[in-house]
Amino acid sequence: MVEEFAFDNTEERRRSRQNGDAGWIEVIVGSMFSGKSEELIRRLKRAQIARQKVQVFKPKIDDRYSIEQIASHSGMTHVSKPVMTAAEMMAKMEDDTQVVGIDEGQFFDMELIKAVTELANNGKRVIIAGLDQDYTGRPFEPMPQLLSIAEFITKTHAICVKCGNTANYSQRTSESTERVQVGAHDKYEARCRKCFVPHSDKPTVV
Ligand SMILES: [Zn+2]
Repeated sequence: MVEEFAFDNTEERRRSRQNGDAGWIEVIVGSMFSGKSEELIRRLKRAQIARQKVQVFKPKIDDRYSIEQIASHSGMTHVSKPVMTAAEMMAKMEDDTQVVGIDEGQFFDMELIKAVTELANNGKRVIIAGLDQDYTGRPFEPMPQLLSIAEFITKTHAICVKCGNTANYSQRTSESTERVQVGAHDKYEARCRKCFVPHSDKPTVV
């Protein structure tokens, strides 16, 4: 009986909710063109309507990414701060921020795992969007680790441009062996499991 009680933290959780200081982690993952950033922006805008203090970050990996906003392929945008590392993000974090948005989580260093854990422990709601697989279909760190520690997970899907099935892969359509290749419609397309060719394939002619 004593052991059973020791493992039941329901009361503790209920109390922390009453105090309003319980944070959590939400992760949005999927392939390119699956609407990850759009879903992130939607949640951030709702938090702002609720008058919560929101801070948004994205990795600074090249000039395109140094523009101070995050954008979805459908044209939705939200202001954000470009940062080089998870440590720089933490240095720019303001104490009274209630909601933290992070886009392109896969381009962050592994320190992001510790950072978001600390933020959630400190009562913040943390929402991270990112690619769960690279162009070869391998899990794209640190997203797998973030999926493990998150309270809430959303997987978004695109539509395969070849056959119309549910797409779960980012098909690279240009020759390159670099894991990070910034680009969109000119370098990638969404593919399903059947049509996906690891590494690269010719673009689909439509
Ligand atoms: Zn397909």
